[in-house]
Amino acid sequence: MATLAAQKIAKSISLPPLPYPEDALAPVISARTLSFHHGKHHKAYVDKVNELIQGTDLEGQSLEKIVMASAGKSDKTELFNDAAQAWNHDFYWHSLKPKGGGKPGAALAEKINAAFGSHDAFKKQFTDTAVKQFGSGWAWLVADGHSLKIIKTSNAELPLTKGLAPLLAIDVWEHAYYLDYQNKRPDYVAAVIDKLLNWEFAAQNLARA
Ligand code: MN
Repeated sequence: MATLAAQKIAKSISLPPLPYPEDALAPVISARTLSFHHGKHHKAYVDKVNELIQGTDLEGQSLEKIVMASAGKSDKTELFNDAAQAWNHDFYWHSLKPKGGGKPGAALAEKINAAFGSHDAFKKQFTDTAVKQFGSGWAWLVADGHSLKIIKTSNAELPLTKGLAPLLAIDVWEHAYYLDYQNKRPDYVAAVIDKLLNWEFAAQNLARA
């Protein structure tokens, strides 16, 4: 019985826990938002992936593999959307941390200055990109080879399918901020960039890129 149960678990992907308590990002992002966003939205994407891969050759594969295997396939759009959103959300939780924001360490700061001119110029471009993404989507700091770029993606789209290495993500779907900021996406984005960005996570991602 234990073996069967273990096999069943191994064939599905799981909802990763938040890397901090639900109230840890308040007041920038409330516990109520994190409760819905992680416990309902993120969970729903994970549950749907498990439903869609059941009995297929993607059962038992890693989430990243499921994302890449379904990307650009017209018969796997629903799976791609749910798998990419599951991946994006785990990446987003790690892109934030309590008492984050500020400036990155030396190696990343040098890359930021080379790519954008200054930390303030980086912040302005990241903010503008996140605010101007029309409708649901994401803003990303990515490594493109040796240089850094800021990009936006619509809906569930993500840098992995474009050969870019994500360093940080900001979720700009309304569910990410509506309970706390209503329609004021610029206020949410500015607060996240100033107070929550996890530069240690970005540096780890850069080292792996
Ligand atoms: Mn979201």
